[in-house]
Amino acid sequence: MKLFAWLLDLVYPPKCPFCGKLLGKDESDLCGKCRKDLPEVGGSVKRGENFRQCWSVYYYEDEVIDSIHRFKFSGMQQYAQVYGRLIAMTLLRKKVEFDILTWVPISKKRRRTRGYEQTRLIAKTVAEELGCDCVPTLRKVRDNPPQSLQKSAANRRGNVLNAYQTVHPERFRGRRVLLIDDIITSGATLGECSKTLLMAGAAQVECATLAVTQNSDKK
Ligand SMILES: [Zn+2]
Repeated sequence: MKLFAWLLDLVYPPKCPFCGKLLGKDESDLCGKCRKDLPEVGGSVKRGENFRQCWSVYYYEDEVIDSIHRFKFSGMQQYAQVYGRLIAMTLLRKKVEFDILTWVPISKKRRRTRGYEQTRLIAKTVAEELGCDCVPTLRKVRDNPPQSLQKSAANRRGNVLNAYQTVHPERFRGRRVLLIDDIITSGATLGECSKTLLMAGAAQVECATLAVTQNSDKK
């Protein structure tokens, strides 16, 4: 397995997922410059309803925007491992407590066109890093238009209304859920998912994302 990883590095030398620069021997996951300069959040935001707070790693700006676009729309699914490790580090640093780790699902149709469910990949790495299970708790039952096309907060809330259903609610009934997504903008999606989980018996919901927009209506 080690040899395979070595060969893979030789053919596809690891690059920083944010600026695209080749990583040096002493750099892992991201380059030294991005590690120093990317806009860290350093705390949680309270935005949207039904969940306690959302822990994010970076503000959604410049290289972070470009990176997430490549991750979602240009097939760079391997970024999930770096994103997941960064989120896990933030959760550890902030001593965030939870019982069940899960993710915001995308629709079946979106999964088919993209070829992967980016949020599940991130959640999987977070779980591996924290040594816990990553379990599906939600499925998306409506293939609504992207949230980024919704101009107002009210439109964003309306667009995701009743878009999710729970799966296996017995797994999280009475338990504290940590919900992972790639980005929080207005908090409408995380709020709707949290409402669905709470109505099915979750004790509380807390969220974590790679990125957060500076204000709630910018994407
Ligand atoms: Zn970089």
